[in-house]
Amino acid sequence: MTNQMELSVVIPVFNEEEVLISSYERLVAVMRRLTANFELIFVNDGSIDGTRSILNHLRELDAHVRVIHFSRNFGHQIAITAGVDYASGAGVVVIDADLQDPPELIPAMVEKWRAGYQVVYAKRLIRKGESFFKKFSAKVFYRALEKLSDTPIPVDTGDFRLMDRKVCRALRQVEEKNPFVRGQVSWLGFKQTEIEYERDERLYGTTKYPLRKMIKLSIDGITSFSYLPLKLATYLGVTVAACGFFYMFFVLFQKLFTTATVPGWASIVIIQLIFFGIVLLVLGVIGEYIGRMYEEVKHRPLYVIDEANGFDVSQLYAMKEDIK
Ligand code: UDP
Ligand code: MG
Repeated sequence: MTNQMELSVVIPVFNEEEVLISSYERLVAVMRRLTANFELIFVNDGSIDGTRSILNHLRELDAHVRVIHFSRNFGHQIAITAGVDYASGAGVVVIDADLQDPPELIPAMVEKWRAGYQVVYAKRLIRKGESFFKKFSAKVFYRALEKLSDTPIPVDTGDFRLMDRKVCRALRQVEEKNPFVRGQVSWLGFKQTEIEYERDERLYGTTKYPLRKMIKLSIDGITSFSYLPLKLATYLGVTVAACGFFYMFFVLFQKLFTTATVPGWASIVIIQLIFFGIVLLVLGVIGEYIGRMYEEVKHRPLYVIDEANGFDVSQLYAMKEDIK
């Protein structure tokens, strides 16, 4: 492909009508100062508000804008994946639409990239305007993931990052149905570095990550990068069997040397409850993995595009096989 695109910005968008124009304006102001050759790829992840028409309107006004409309909501991580699939820049930035990731950091990322780093990710030092629960759960999640994961995934780092086109090309070959993009990028390797920032408050609108989506993201992250939860069954089994073995001596002792053998209802019930609990927990963990394996096996496409605006069709199909 003879494309001289220097920088692509991928922006996943789900019901962001209140903030979209401000985001666009701030992004364009920053990008103009960096290069004339940039594209803004907005991935509309099945929004049901005015997002779709705002994006199409922006596209009419500005040829830098490209828009992909999904056929329904596929989720933040999949929207990022699609945007990266179709980005043609030598460097590709991923940024949220809600201005929590300040676009003004992009020049610092570009500088590191030009100095030779292939991935520059932004590490959050402070998260402003977020609930105690969100901050606390994020803190616990990132640390748990770091302990569990076989691939080192940097803590307190979201998807706000710049990737070289080589990294994007490799990322396109990672085809997972429940993608955890920041983990995939760590897994790829390459020369990576971080910049630190203070995550701003959401400027308008409300979070599009309800608890349900947060839990799904965490389980995706952990199951894609660790088998430890599966091994839990073995550890629990061994521990419980060892306890049972010692308890056997106690029972035998009581039976042989005391007369108090009839009472025992309480201990039986307690043991039953604990064991059932453990068995169900372990089955649930195995189920999480099997469910994800099932999704891989079905070979469905990761996302479905309803309409793409601003790409030429050959480019749309060629990008995924881009091997130059
Ligand atoms: N988003 C998306 N699909 C979804 C949920 C969120 O594309 O199903 C986008 C959203 O529009 C935003 C980014 O992902 O640009 C991050 O979402 P949000 O700001 O709601 O998450 P939070 O910052 O609260 O974790
Ligand atoms: Mg946000």
